[in-house]
Amino acid sequence: MKENQTNSRNVERVAVIGAGTMGHGIAQVAAMADYAVKLFDISSDVLATAAQRIRANLEKGVSIGKVDAAVRERALAKLSTTNRLVEAVESADLVVEAAPEDMALKRKIFSDVDAAAPPHAILASNTSSLSIAKIAEGTSDPGRVLGMHFFNPVHIMKLLEIVRTERTDESTIAAARAAGVAMGKTPIVVKDSPGFATSRLGLTLGLEATRMLEEGVASIEDIDTAMELGYGHPMGPFRLADLVGLDVRLAIAEYLYRETGSDRFRPPETLQRLVGEGKLGKKTGEGFYKWTDD
Ligand code: NAD
Repeated sequence: MKENQTNSRNVERVAVIGAGTMGHGIAQVAAMADYAVKLFDISSDVLATAAQRIRANLEKGVSIGKVDAAVRERALAKLSTTNRLVEAVESADLVVEAAPEDMALKRKIFSDVDAAAPPHAILASNTSSLSIAKIAEGTSDPGRVLGMHFFNPVHIMKLLEIVRTERTDESTIAAARAAGVAMGKTPIVVKDSPGFATSRLGLTLGLEATRMLEEGVASIEDIDTAMELGYGHPMGPFRLADLVGLDVRLAIAEYLYRETGSDRFRPPETLQRLVGEGKLGKKTGEGFYKWTDD
């Protein structure tokens, strides 16, 4: 069934590594695209929660008329969870890693997956910023490694940022693109460079907004309104940073500052202070804004 790996690579079975915020969403859209999906996490509790979240998401989709009941049933039938990595990847055609944003961890996962997955399988990372080439270093075939950067919430956001290294095979990119389209996404292809296209641009806006706040140019609310009404952004840079998580933002800024040496990415004092105070955004109830439960 699988064709020559240098020509085309059919994807029928997908493994998702990490079942948190992103992993459960990627597993959901893959199952909805009719792929047989195995969702892996080191934590059985996380796996149980992920399965519940997927079910609840699909239920909600059906109740608001966005998802066919038949698609929900098929997706649930196509999805299974496991806390054994080998079982998750041993027959996968595509493996999407969505573990925490930590280079050493991702390199270890890629080396383990490389050993356990079939040789034709595509190995993708959902990293927001880390070098795909470095993640691929411990694998036997960097030609099959690339970035597939989905956006949160995965079942809603349309963009898929495909990240290619100098060594990624064309067939790998073509297959990832086709799988992304099957999952309802619009792919873009970008070079493996710090922050890719999306994190680099999004972060630049957020950091500049924070520097403007520090200089007293305008308030948080007015800077957000400037971008929402003046540029048609669905939400301003501070609201967005609160949703992403200020710790996540700070980690990406520190990484880009280290990698590029550019002052553009130097983390502003306000961002460091808020993270130091545990004000990480919506998930902790306060970041640039105060958040209530609704
Ligand atoms: P998360 O913390 O919600 O989920 C990570 C999951 O990985 C956890 O469930 C954890 O138990 C699991 N995990 C830890 N070690 C593991 C291992 N060795 N093997 C398998 N699973 C392991 O994180 P997230 O927000 O879903 O982020 C995952 C990745 O996606 C990161 O690289 C992040 O940068 C990227 N990303 C996040 C967002 C976002 O908005 N949260 C958006 C785009 C990309």
